[in-house]
Amino acid sequence: NRPPRLHRGFTMTRACSLQNAPLRIMQWNILAQALGEGKDGFVRCPIEALNWSERKYLILEEILTYRPDVLCLQEVDHYFDTFQPVLASLGYQSSFCPKPCSPCLDVHNNNGPDGCALFFNRSRFQLLHTTHLRLSAMMLKTNQVAVVVTLRCRLTGRVFCVAVTHLKARSGWEAFRSAQGAHLLQQLREITAQSYPEMDQENRTRVGESEEGVPLVVCGDFNAEPSEEVYRRFMTSPLGLDSAYKCLSEDGTTEPPYTSWKIRPSGESCSTLDYIWYSERAFQVDAVLRIPSEEQIGPDRLPSYHYPSDHLSLVCDLSFSQQPHRLM
Ligand code: NDP
Ligand code: CA
Repeated sequence: NRPPRLHRGFTMTRACSLQNAPLRIMQWNILAQALGEGKDGFVRCPIEALNWSERKYLILEEILTYRPDVLCLQEVDHYFDTFQPVLASLGYQSSFCPKPCSPCLDVHNNNGPDGCALFFNRSRFQLLHTTHLRLSAMMLKTNQVAVVVTLRCRLTGRVFCVAVTHLKARSGWEAFRSAQGAHLLQQLREITAQSYPEMDQENRTRVGESEEGVPLVVCGDFNAEPSEEVYRRFMTSPLGLDSAYKCLSEDGTTEPPYTSWKIRPSGESCSTLDYIWYSERAFQVDAVLRIPSEEQIGPDRLPSYHYPSDHLSLVCDLSFSQQPHRLM
């Protein structure tokens, strides 16, 4: 008999109309099985809580509790044997990009490289395009990747892009993360500008697109606190992005106090590292899944029998803002 799962409610951030079915987006670093067992050193997590045979059900349960339309995962090292087939049977189409030199491969009995995976509800969206990016920093190739898809809503015809990434971890690598972020933003500018290659600027503006291009959602474990340069880069980019989880704060401008909380031999680490960015002009945030309290997380922090990763899942509902052509 396992302890109960963390209960988390949604905070409604605006009154929303029912006719405008929002997009539910989920961002989650699920903790690679090989890293959790073989590298992380989560000294306060019982080793049995990390058994894949049980932990995989906790991960799937968390996903299916919220049933996102778009699911962005990092540290996926069980794509082909678990997440792709299980989620395909539940109506998700997906794409996986492994890290070129995954640290999972150093672990005995590993299950292959970890990487980023993006899943979407295939009855709701049609896939128009997929890009796998290997991020660069200062012109050099790095070990970090991103997946970018362009989707069309089957019901409304709306087109948007979603990206998932996992930036370089550890302190001392702040400038490196910032450079990776700059490269990703540059690539996203090109991809979102190209998504209607046949359209000239005048027509783009008419269908409700700004010079910012196709609406964009970027999910990731940025491994960066909001004080880091890469956060500021995303906040101030020409893509016009804002961070959905700021909506949880009273003033609407502050990120949550933590999205990851763990205890390693080197000490306790409680930090805000994960984000859902969205095009500010195209989307409104309708609801955000709350962050569990310190008491809910418990004294041994994460992962635990209650919760299978050291990172919390982020879930939000986004709806398209009314566009000029819709009001005519
Ligand atoms: P990162 O530094 O980005 O971290 C990799 C993983 O380690 C992340 O998933 C991260 O989790 C986790 N992590 C972060 N901090 C710690 C910590 N203090 N203790 C344990 N784990 C932590 O990795 P890179 O992709 O840059 O790869 C680095 C590793 O990959 C090297 O140590 C090496 O083993 C291997 N490598 C091998 C190469 C080769 O040629 N064989 C080349 C390059 C790398 P989170 O994001 O959740 O913080
Ligand atoms: Ca990790």
